[in-house]
Amino acid sequence: MPDNKMIEEINRRRTFAIISHPDAGKTTLTEKLLLYGGAITLAGSVKGKKTDRHAVSDWMEIEKQRGISVTSSVMQFEYEGCCINILDTPGHQDFSEDTYRTLMAVDSAVMVIDAAKGVENQTRKLFKVCVMRHIPIFTFINKLDRDSRNPFDLLTQIEDELGIATCPMNWPIGNGVDFKGVYDRNSRKVISYTANGGQREVESVEAEPGDPCLDSLIGEANHRQLSEDIELLDGASDELDLERVAKGELSPVFFGSALNNFGVEPFLEGFLKMTSPPLPRVSDKGIIEPTEDVFSAFVFKIQANMNKAHRDRLTFMRVCSGKFTRDMEVSHVQGGNKKMRLSQPQQIMAQEREIINEAYAGDIIGVFDPGIFSIGDTICTPGHEFKFEGIPTFAPEHFARIRHKDTMKRKQFVKGATQIAQEGAIQIFREPDSGMEEVIVGVVGMLQFDVFEHRMSTEYNVEIINEGLPYQYIRWIDNEGIDPKKLNLSSDTKIVQDFKGNYLLLFTSEWNIRWALEKNEGLLLSEFNKN
Ligand code: GDP
Repeated sequence: MPDNKMIEEINRRRTFAIISHPDAGKTTLTEKLLLYGGAITLAGSVKGKKTDRHAVSDWMEIEKQRGISVTSSVMQFEYEGCCINILDTPGHQDFSEDTYRTLMAVDSAVMVIDAAKGVENQTRKLFKVCVMRHIPIFTFINKLDRDSRNPFDLLTQIEDELGIATCPMNWPIGNGVDFKGVYDRNSRKVISYTANGGQREVESVEAEPGDPCLDSLIGEANHRQLSEDIELLDGASDELDLERVAKGELSPVFFGSALNNFGVEPFLEGFLKMTSPPLPRVSDKGIIEPTEDVFSAFVFKIQANMNKAHRDRLTFMRVCSGKFTRDMEVSHVQGGNKKMRLSQPQQIMAQEREIINEAYAGDIIGVFDPGIFSIGDTICTPGHEFKFEGIPTFAPEHFARIRHKDTMKRKQFVKGATQIAQEGAIQIFREPDSGMEEVIVGVVGMLQFDVFEHRMSTEYNVEIINEGLPYQYIRWIDNEGIDPKKLNLSSDTKIVQDFKGNYLLLFTSEWNIRWALEKNEGLLLSEFNKN
């Protein structure tokens, strides 16, 4: 039987990811949440100087150079009895597969949107990935202290473009220099703010709409506008239905300014009330409840060389049930139920990594990995083995033939390409019967090529030659024992193999896929790798 302490610990956990467009304010909002949680004491300490673009969660060199988050990091803090795990995600659609994997490890997501820009073209795909997962999505519309789009228009855009209904929890009063605060729809009170450089204790005054003091606090025009808006909202917006929120059909929306701390604490409090403790997970032995006695976790992210000096490889796992203790023996299911102790289990706390002694369902732990884990692997208490539902790989859409420039560097080339592929940062293929002198690399977004090239050069000291290939579609051949060379294929279709030996076809157009299916009766092609 699980003990009460364990159940209590699990129930107070909240694990979520933050997704946003680059520059919408994800880092700033994360920092403010850490500030409320007391994990840091002064706003600005995560981000550093204004000119210094890198924050704690931005690990890699290329992220600093481009000012985007490529990898996801994890942070834990406490707030009013809750133990909160925040997972950061890359803010660019080219890394949407990474975001998808991170979303597999959380119970809800917070989507940050810039109030001036709304849903941006570049990240539409990223947000759609989130909607695809059917997890609860909470929206924080940020930067109301800048000239913003009409809040009603912003909500309509989210609904139309992402196909999710919205329910505003609060409502902005003015915007830009005239941003005065928010109206909380639940308490029916106005919270007006005074700027103080974004520190924790932001000065606020509360009053009810209609109260004459509001004419001076927020201005007569804003007061009038607010009364009109409230009437419209009460009549027209979706009701807050927590069941629909849980299914990812309805997103509660908060307005504010992360930089000025306007609306951040009400957001955090509202969010914590609505988001759920760790949710059950699906396995091949049925549903696994978080409070089950048996410890279980799955790998959702592998990150090599985070610290160049140590050449380490960290594997991140989400604990799904039970309790993890530091020296406990676990079984690696996909590794043939191999028994092991997880080496130096870590948790990332704001700026530091800490060795942890225990972790509960909902927590994320990072362990040093000599290269044995793959994305999607299950780890659990020996004798109780099962496998969690796999994490699908996205079909790459861009392909290139990659060679090393210097033939003396063959070994490093093979090692680098293999390790980066194991992390899931790229997918690699080869032509049948060819060696590892060159590989065909497939990516979902073009920026992944840049990251690959940069990492090969900085981490493995190998310069590569990248020759773009015209293919756009990839299909796995599902027929057992088929000889692909005997297939009747159009001349611009290419046969390749993945590193498990499975055969695949690369196509330049959908027309060619149809051609292959028509000319080869019984041929089974699939978009996802099922192995
Ligand atoms: P990220 O790329 O989504 O992590 O965005 P950042 O948190 O790094 O923010 C991008 C820029 O927007 C930074 O210069 C922030 O200081 C600024 N920023 C963030 N939140 C706000 C806000 O509420 N108001 C204003 N005016 N600027 C903000």
